[in-house]
Amino acid sequence: MGWWLARTLGVLFLVLLGAVCGAFVGSVLQKFSAVGPLIGALFGSLLALTLALLRDAWRGQALMNWLRGPLTTPAPRDSGFWGEMAYRVEKALRVRELGTQRESERLAQFLSAIEASPNGVMLLDSGDQIEWCNSVAAEHFGLDPERDRRQRVTNLVRSPAFVAHLQGGRFEEPVEFAGPLGRSSLSVLVRPYGDGLRLVLSQDITARERTEAMRRDFVANVSHEIRTPLTVLAGFVETLTQLPLSEPERQRVLQLMGQQAERMQALVGDLLTLARLEGSPRPAPDRWYRMGEVMQQARRDAEGLSAGRHTISSEGGEDVEVAGSDAELYSAVANLLNNAVRYTPEGGLIHLRWVWRDDGGGEIEVQDTGIGIAREHLSRLTERFYRVDGSRSRDTGGTGLGLSIVKHVAQRHGGEIEVSSEPGKGSCFRLVLPALRVRRVREVLAA
Ligand code: ADP
Repeated sequence: MGWWLARTLGVLFLVLLGAVCGAFVGSVLQKFSAVGPLIGALFGSLLALTLALLRDAWRGQALMNWLRGPLTTPAPRDSGFWGEMAYRVEKALRVRELGTQRESERLAQFLSAIEASPNGVMLLDSGDQIEWCNSVAAEHFGLDPERDRRQRVTNLVRSPAFVAHLQGGRFEEPVEFAGPLGRSSLSVLVRPYGDGLRLVLSQDITARERTEAMRRDFVANVSHEIRTPLTVLAGFVETLTQLPLSEPERQRVLQLMGQQAERMQALVGDLLTLARLEGSPRPAPDRWYRMGEVMQQARRDAEGLSAGRHTISSEGGEDVEVAGSDAELYSAVANLLNNAVRYTPEGGLIHLRWVWRDDGGGEIEVQDTGIGIAREHLSRLTERFYRVDGSRSRDTGGTGLGLSIVKHVAQRHGGEIEVSSEPGKGSCFRLVLPALRVRRVREVLAA
């Protein structure tokens, strides 16, 4: 049965009831007045109809009041037409609310996925106003994701390259420019979408640029290092071919040529060592080598280099085993001793020793009484081609790569290199190895 029929029948029933009651009252009052059952019935039905309408209007008003409100409270509970109406409205609202909630959850999920992106993402409307940006983009462009929303991006990101790119409308290639405060470099790609909207993707390329600059510097340095002895060699070749030299002069020139060739050989050797260290996997942590043997070999070689000009001593290391590569460790210790010999004047002392550390690790220490190094150079010593005194380094056959090699070896064994030095008094270089990579030989025998 439809609501209209039920409702009409309900009202008719009330009117009928009112008429019956009115007729009864009219017949009782007939004895005392002119009101008869007919008038009573008419009056009763009118009264019932009025009451039904009033009740209806009151219920309708209650629903209207609820609808006008914030809709946070439950709908007025009622039976009948208005009750059903309230229930239906409330249900429809709840279904809509659920849909909206699901939509906003999906949007939040989507935005948090973009938020997690390592790249900056910014959405611009057709007037270049910021619709939304993730925190990476905010950091890249120096924006506040909340405060700067609906602001014109070109008012906030003022880099001329960026503004010109955005206004130029040619977005095939990314544009590169300095980030806010000029501390970083950004690569920005703009992609148009929708109706005049734009997606701006940004990437911090500071590290990439730095690596690129380092690569350029490295190539320039290597070229320079090779060009110098090559120029000298070319000069000598010219001298030999064009000048009639006496035998002693010829011998001298050949000796100098040999020195330049050795210099180039040493440089290429160190470059190859560095390339090997950078391009190969870390040495295995379970291949153990006797540290004592490595130290003794390096010491013998240093004595050969010193040719009796220094007193070279060593201490400890016989009962130590190190996990990793003995060739790399030898190369590191030999480099440190080689430096000690080259930067310590004749008669100086050089001491090589193994020291256990409190944390279970150990260090190979090379101490000398040489020329020492001023404090401001210490942090840069392990940079490739960094030299405190370029001519002394070159004159003594240095390549400027020795300490870079030592640093790489230390890092590949999980360790580091420490330096303390005082000009005029001497230097102390320590190759520190972690506990995981060192053990005592007697522990092995006992095991
Ligand atoms: P180089 O081949 O020039 O010795 P290294 O990388 O081995 O290159 O060393 C970098 C610089 O550190 C050297 O040029 C030198 O100035 C300084 N240096 C290294 N070891 C010592 C030392 N034992 N005493 C004084 N200076 C040192």
